[in-house]
Amino acid sequence: MLYKESFYAKEGLADIYHSVMEGNRITPEQGLRLLEHSNIQAVGALAHHVRMRKHGTNTYFVRNMHLNYSNVCIHPCTFCAFKRSSEQSEGAFIYSHDELLEQLAQEQAEFAEIHIVGGCHPTLSLEWFTSLVKKIKALQPQADIKMFTAVEIDHLAQIENIRIEDVLQALKDAGASMLTGGGAEIFAPRVRKQVCPTKLNAEEWLHVHSVAHSMGNLSNCTMLFGHIETIEERIDHLCRLRELQDKTHGFICFIPLPYQRKNNPLSSKVTTNDSYIDRMKTIAVSRLMLDNIEHIKAYWIMLGVKEAQSALYFGADDIDGTIVEEKIGHWAGANSSHALHIDELRFMITQSGFTPVCRNARFLAA
Ligand code: SF4
Repeated sequence: MLYKESFYAKEGLADIYHSVMEGNRITPEQGLRLLEHSNIQAVGALAHHVRMRKHGTNTYFVRNMHLNYSNVCIHPCTFCAFKRSSEQSEGAFIYSHDELLEQLAQEQAEFAEIHIVGGCHPTLSLEWFTSLVKKIKALQPQADIKMFTAVEIDHLAQIENIRIEDVLQALKDAGASMLTGGGAEIFAPRVRKQVCPTKLNAEEWLHVHSVAHSMGNLSNCTMLFGHIETIEERIDHLCRLRELQDKTHGFICFIPLPYQRKNNPLSSKVTTNDSYIDRMKTIAVSRLMLDNIEHIKAYWIMLGVKEAQSALYFGADDIDGTIVEEKIGHWAGANSSHALHIDELRFMITQSGFTPVCRNARFLAA
């Protein structure tokens, strides 16, 4: 429940309270003040107010499956515990089409969303992927195929020596018309130089999504936080997403991803606190800053079930889905389970006092 105006005045947040009440946009300076503020309940209540205004008690979940085709990757991202340098490296994998289709078939379920990402493999071709999508679509015609991060799209454009537009069109023609939100990390060049020095920069990441949006595709967007970034760099990241969304309206959901600290070299360089308060405040400020993005996800894989439930009171309105098998977060130390049954997701939401709504990748009822 929202506190009274006098409470926000005492907390030095009267101007932000008024902006929220009047439906006005939060400025970068106000966003920064919220992230720095010591009263987490005051910040959370503002975000919850916006969430309730947008969605009431509706809280979304999806019957989905993650498919990782390979973890072989040419990039050296320092936060990544998933990638392997070559197919000969210990723990490396590359699945054939048949093996991936077998993973899907084993589940004996009709998925509303199939989420496909992997490393930037040095030789897999665009044709290998379009042919895979067609086979998956034949097996699961009802599913939205959410395929690739902007990083993989950029990588395929380079491998094939074609434009971003051509990669996206080929995938769309095959049946995959949505992009995942991965690869954004933190947009600030200072941070990217240390966490993902060789992959696409902020402008290139945003360009891939803007091209996808111009083709009528929807996409998600993310921010990997809680490592070496400053809070100013978090706000800058949110502002850049907000600016693009003003132009294209193609982002459907924002996913704040807390950095996982195991099995990756970045963990020895971390400068931020790993705390519940920081995670909840960041989710709340995301809800408040991103007034033009409809949904904020509490990704239970990275937060764990209990924190994801808490996040529903800090502005989040979606908890993601069944997943089936998650590798990327777990190999970096996420200690949630690998999968949740659809009934467990429903229970998670009702137990927290919200109304479960089963959706597809476009947030339509499924
Ligand atoms: S985050 Fe993605 S691009 Fe970076 S090393 Fe890991 S798999 Fe490769």
